[in-house]
Amino acid sequence: MNTQPRILVVDDDAGGRRLTRATLTKVGFSVREAGDGQAALEAIQAEMPDLVLLDVSMPVMDGFTACAQLRQMPGGDRVPVVMMTGLDDTQSIDRAFEAGATDFITKPINWAVLPHRVRYMLRASAAINDLQQNQRRLSNAQRIGEMGDWEWDLRADRIAPSEQAWRIFGHERDTRAVPAEGFFTTVHPDDSERLHQACDRAVTNGEGFAIDHRIVMPDGAVRHVHQQVEVIERQPEGPALRLAGAVHDISRRKDAEEQIRRLAYFDPLTGLPNRLLFSEQLGKAIAQAGRYQRRLAIMFVDLDNFKRVNDTLGHNAGDELLRNASGRLAGVLRSHDSLSRCNGDDLPHSIARLGGDEFIVLLTDVPNPDDAAAVAQRLVDTLNEPVTIQGTEIFVGGSVGVAMFPEDGADIDTLLMNADTAMYRAKAAGRGGFQLYDRSMNARALDRLRMETRLRRALERQEFVLHYQPRVDVVSGRIVGAEALIRWQHPERGLLPPAEFIPLVEDAGLVIPIGEWVIETVCAQSAAWHAAGLDTVPVAVNLASTHLRERGLPGLVAKALRTHGVPARCLEIEVTESILLADPELSVAIAQELATMGVQLSIDDFGTGYSSLGYLKKLPIASLKIDRSFVRDLVTDPDDEAIVSAIIALAHSLKLRVVAEGVETEAQLAYLQAMRCDEYQGFLTSRAIEPVEFGRMLERRAAIESAFTPLSRPAELVFSPAG
Ligand code: C2E
Ligand code: CA
Ligand code: CA
Repeated sequence: MNTQPRILVVDDDAGGRRLTRATLTKVGFSVREAGDGQAALEAIQAEMPDLVLLDVSMPVMDGFTACAQLRQMPGGDRVPVVMMTGLDDTQSIDRAFEAGATDFITKPINWAVLPHRVRYMLRASAAINDLQQNQRRLSNAQRIGEMGDWEWDLRADRIAPSEQAWRIFGHERDTRAVPAEGFFTTVHPDDSERLHQACDRAVTNGEGFAIDHRIVMPDGAVRHVHQQVEVIERQPEGPALRLAGAVHDISRRKDAEEQIRRLAYFDPLTGLPNRLLFSEQLGKAIAQAGRYQRRLAIMFVDLDNFKRVNDTLGHNAGDELLRNASGRLAGVLRSHDSLSRCNGDDLPHSIARLGGDEFIVLLTDVPNPDDAAAVAQRLVDTLNEPVTIQGTEIFVGGSVGVAMFPEDGADIDTLLMNADTAMYRAKAAGRGGFQLYDRSMNARALDRLRMETRLRRALERQEFVLHYQPRVDVVSGRIVGAEALIRWQHPERGLLPPAEFIPLVEDAGLVIPIGEWVIETVCAQSAAWHAAGLDTVPVAVNLASTHLRERGLPGLVAKALRTHGVPARCLEIEVTESILLADPELSVAIAQELATMGVQLSIDDFGTGYSSLGYLKKLPIASLKIDRSFVRDLVTDPDDEAIVSAIIALAHSLKLRVVAEGVETEAQLAYLQAMRCDEYQGFLTSRAIEPVEFGRMLERRAAIESAFTPLSRPAELVFSPAG
């Protein structure tokens, strides 16, 4: 590519053109010629020159017209145009500049000077172009980065802002220097004083500063900016003379922060604070109440029939109900605020949704517990009013538990837990009421109550899991079944064994719901193993004896089997002998119904109860599980050996299968084999393991069996498709 500067010489005088050309070519320029304005424009169209030497008067199109048109062409505004005029022709000179000429030279041309003039023009034009480009870049960068800058000349008290700074400050587009006061008029009135003070300090002590403040746009919108200000000139040992500021529009970041805050701190459904924000608010309220010796009330609110509405009318109805309830609760609290005199510190109340159908209320201005009780009653009342949700009139109702600071707890956790416990007591005492936390209860009873409260929540929050222990054929060592054993994945205490919570289940009124959950989960698990292509085995569930007096049990079992397409043989039920202690007729009838369906029953922990085998004959049972206390000392204690062998003999005479529990050693297994026990469970083979692991065990079993024996799959274990 030719790097010589390209000059276009436009003159109708061919001799002058040639001379000019010769002069410029000699010093290294590349020169083209045109005989009139029209020809010049065509030449420019074909290739943009670096400089144009343009005669004023020419035929076809004169120099003024050509120059004016050149300036309109793309890129034509950056080319220096030097007009050639007659000496003393001031009128032409004026017209030339009006037409957009960069400079002029007079004819006759001084050939010795011409190359220097041209070179000078080229350099000046390059410098101007660079400057303009830099300004464009800076302006673009500021626009893209949402930044602007300004300089404040304190002597003249004028500010020169960049275009972008001007715009960020909400002014019309104009970048001329303005009186300083005029520039800062759009600063938010609440921030103005702070900004002025910071500027004054900078002027006196000569040090820069950074500040975040707001700006009010002409349309009233509020913009957030960050300003970084420096002193760029000052009198020696004196005040500043010139400040420079960079202003950054951080509205977008603020919006994002606000958005993140909302997501992190608020419940999207009701717009109420969530647990996290509420805990923070409560923490602050406790600190304040402690300092000023004031009382707080923390109220746990739980809707009574939310689950039913959700299940029968659907999630949308459930959501609407929750929004409606939150609105009603807030309404009660607003009226409470207008009654209680506001102490001016903080909001006198706050309300939050903890998830599900649980709300929590904090009252910060509670002279005594009676006041809290009055509010609690109003909360209960408002929830007891019927509402219309999706065209259906619904009574929801709610229970409220109240704990007071400082009496019922000094920290967040204790207060929340005690309010929760009180709420649970309100529920237990009959729905639709409130309870104040009762300190008179002794510690043991309290622990228990808390545990029960937590158990209820554990079920709602799906914290229970089932582990599976294989049941093994004593002779072949083949896995012939499994027992589902419940564990509680406690959020703080880790995986808890059933001994730590099953004894409380009855008092918590959870026997039925937990039993139902176990049945449902086992059926779902069986179906999942089957769907994964595994040969499933019958799985036994443990049911509390009281559950066997539930008339709904057989129907429920049938439904779970049907829903998951699981054959009845795949589900077994274990109960203890205590089943016969109360209302044996009912239990027997229900057991018979289950047996008719094909669900087998076994007696768990056999030998520890009072019932005789003969008595148990009334029940349609398929097997007995010998309690592991007998198995433990089987090898060393002749009494246990005698008991176990008697149980096995009797059971066999009644055509019952016998399962030994808690087999840990080969020696115990050898005894059991000799005694012709049918099956066993125990650590010798495996502990109760997670479903995935048990699935792998079934997989291994299938692999071993297909290697040694022809595929054997009991016909009765074939699944039917769901639905
Ligand atoms: P269980 O029905 O007699 O269950 C057998 C218990 O013995 C299980 O304890 C099991 O892990 C343990 N075990 C198995 N093999 C051995 C062994 O070789 N040595 C020893 N030392 N122990 C062994 P786990 O899982 O702690 O269950 C304890 C009890 O909790 C169960 O006794 C049952 O009565 C109750 N339970 C478990 N799951 C449920 C359930 O889903 N619902 C109800 N209502 N009760 C359950
Ligand atoms: Ca059992
Ligand atoms: Ca047992």
